[in-house]
Amino acid sequence: MQKYRRELLESLAEGSLTGLEMNHQFNFECQDDCMGRCCNTISIMLDPWDVEIMARHLGMPGRDFLKEYCIYEIDRGYGWPFARFRHAEKGPCAFMLKDGKCRVYPARSRNCRTYPLGRAVRAKAPEEGGGLEEMFFMVERQPFCFGNRGRRTWTIQDWLDDADALKMYQLFDLYMDVINYCTGELQSRAWMSDAVSSMMAPLLFGPDMLRERLNIDPDQVGHEEFYRRRMKALKAVLTDIAGGFGFGPAVGGGKEEGSVKIMDRMKDILVNG
Ligand code: SF4
Ligand code: SF4
Repeated sequence: MQKYRRELLESLAEGSLTGLEMNHQFNFECQDDCMGRCCNTISIMLDPWDVEIMARHLGMPGRDFLKEYCIYEIDRGYGWPFARFRHAEKGPCAFMLKDGKCRVYPARSRNCRTYPLGRAVRAKAPEEGGGLEEMFFMVERQPFCFGNRGRRTWTIQDWLDDADALKMYQLFDLYMDVINYCTGELQSRAWMSDAVSSMMAPLLFGPDMLRERLNIDPDQVGHEEFYRRRMKALKAVLTDIAGGFGFGPAVGGGKEEGSVKIMDRMKDILVNG
């Protein structure tokens, strides 16, 4: 994952992959004779918002969705537990219908909805002004995909609007911010473990469970706001966990008092924002 991202950013910087402006035009239209080939034997990474909207679309708890349809495992070289579709890796995606169309189309994941457009995000250094820099590029054309035969012309902006992708990018970036903080400042490669990734799972993928336990109704705290609170709580929890291992700004906190504080702080963020 880390290697792929690094190579991607290097390619963009070198100019061997072209970063595209929003008004760049391209032709693409899905074709009946290759419908669904893109959803077969392919690795598709999922972020927490992807899982949340697909689970909600199917009327199932996020943790059950994760268990049934995803692989959730730590990338040891990166120090972070990533989720990806399970079935699509070795055959057709679990949501591919017989005609190749998608059973969860309105709620499909960010990567599913933006293909063949890719987006690389780089965290800028403080001396560069901080924040994120994004670059769009066309994913390498696959021989099985006939989308470029389509006559319909899009701009990058139209494509993203049509896929309703901008909101998903905003929410993904919040998740990316937690990953960058955890793998960078907190040096999670040194301490990330199965036990820690299990502890993280409810904040990442179990909004319904947290809502039930803390009595937080979606009418009071909407889904997107609750997602933002979960990412904020996750950052706080990981800061304290890292401190216990001797990394990051929370080094030195008392262990028992610390674990009580973590739970209280997490609840406070989830309930009050
Ligand atoms: S979720 Fe839908 S679009 Fe994405 S891989 Fe599965 S079937 Fe294809
Ligand atoms: S055109 Fe490409 S993206 Fe569309 S269904 Fe065919 S293989 Fe998938």
